[in-house]
Amino acid sequence: MNIKFLDFHPSHSEIRAEILEALAKVYDSNWYILGKEVQNFENAYAQYSKTKHCIGVANGLEAIHLSLKAIGVEPGDEVIVPSNTYIATVLAVTYAGATPVFVEPRLTSYNINPELIEPKITSKTKAIIPVHLYGLPCEMDAILNISKKHNLSIVEDNAQSQGATFNGKMTGSFGLANATSFYPGKNLGALGDAGAITTDSDEMANKLKILRNYGSEKKYFNSVIGYNSRLDEMQAAVLSVKLKHLNNWTSERVKIAEKYKFLLKGIPGLEIPQPVEGATHVYHQFIIRCKNRDELKNRLIENGVETLIHYPIPPHLQEAYSSLGFKEGSFPIAEEISSTVLSLPIYIGLKDEQIEYICDVIKDFFQSKN
Ligand SMILES: *Cc1c(COP(=O)(O)O)cnc(C)c1O
Repeated sequence: MNIKFLDFHPSHSEIRAEILEALAKVYDSNWYILGKEVQNFENAYAQYSKTKHCIGVANGLEAIHLSLKAIGVEPGDEVIVPSNTYIATVLAVTYAGATPVFVEPRLTSYNINPELIEPKITSKTKAIIPVHLYGLPCEMDAILNISKKHNLSIVEDNAQSQGATFNGKMTGSFGLANATSFYPGKNLGALGDAGAITTDSDEMANKLKILRNYGSEKKYFNSVIGYNSRLDEMQAAVLSVKLKHLNNWTSERVKIAEKYKFLLKGIPGLEIPQPVEGATHVYHQFIIRCKNRDELKNRLIENGVETLIHYPIPPHLQEAYSSLGFKEGSFPIAEEISSTVLSLPIYIGLKDEQIEYICDVIKDFFQSKN
């Protein structure tokens, strides 16, 4: 058997006609930037997220960056981020001129450990970025309490968790401004780069619309130094089609994850995803964890199964951030995670027999070890 890590083919062939029709409509419309399609998608995604506003932007990184600018993060400020996140979260803090302050995750959820946040708060701390990693919401009740107590803003990084909830509330609706990404491989993916910000604040929405469009509200009048970070009409049209399928696709992801969990439970030495009270998981990735990760990855490749590692090097050990002065051992939990996690294939159309095959290879591997 040959199983790719990610295959768009099954989901994309299901909606091919719908997508091509939407693209043709944009092609014929004579209007390609900030038009009806972006407006329609923004309305639909705001409704989906149960927020008052959605502002479409160029990508997920820009969504975080512009959110930080809009909430007023400035050079000299500190922003709390998890020590095990995708680099984009950290880059956005740097773009805003602020310093990322890393807080370790829980080993059981891979998400920021709220109990470790308060000791890292200083007079310079301006915001917290909870990252709902792999599709699992952070413990937002505890994080909201801390943010209220210390008067900090929250900007969620919801790039991996569209459709997830914590205590019944959608991720992407907790913070003052919340970022998401529609990179093709995300749960809701465009056919290229795209992102969005969700917010309940009219003030934030206005600021963000100006920031994404050269700092201009009225054409050729520039009130602030802005950016060119717009969602385009083609991607918005694609996203509007795909959004209608997202709930079904999420259910399919959950089903795949449940099957994996059922087949992989009770293997000594193998960690599988654990539930978190109040959180619904949308399984952007299905993560397992074990000591002999590299050996297991090789065994899977030999048997035709592609896997990935999210992420092999935590941000504090990236060369780009050497100036922060961290070294191996600075954030041991993030380092432990990066050296033990493995992402198994999960995508719309992954078949039961493929899941069973993958789990058989994994079980054989552990039987030969134990
Ligand atoms: C994908 C991702 C981003 C960045 O999104 P892009 O659209 O690729 O810029 C940010 N944060 C997390 C957690 C992501 O997974």
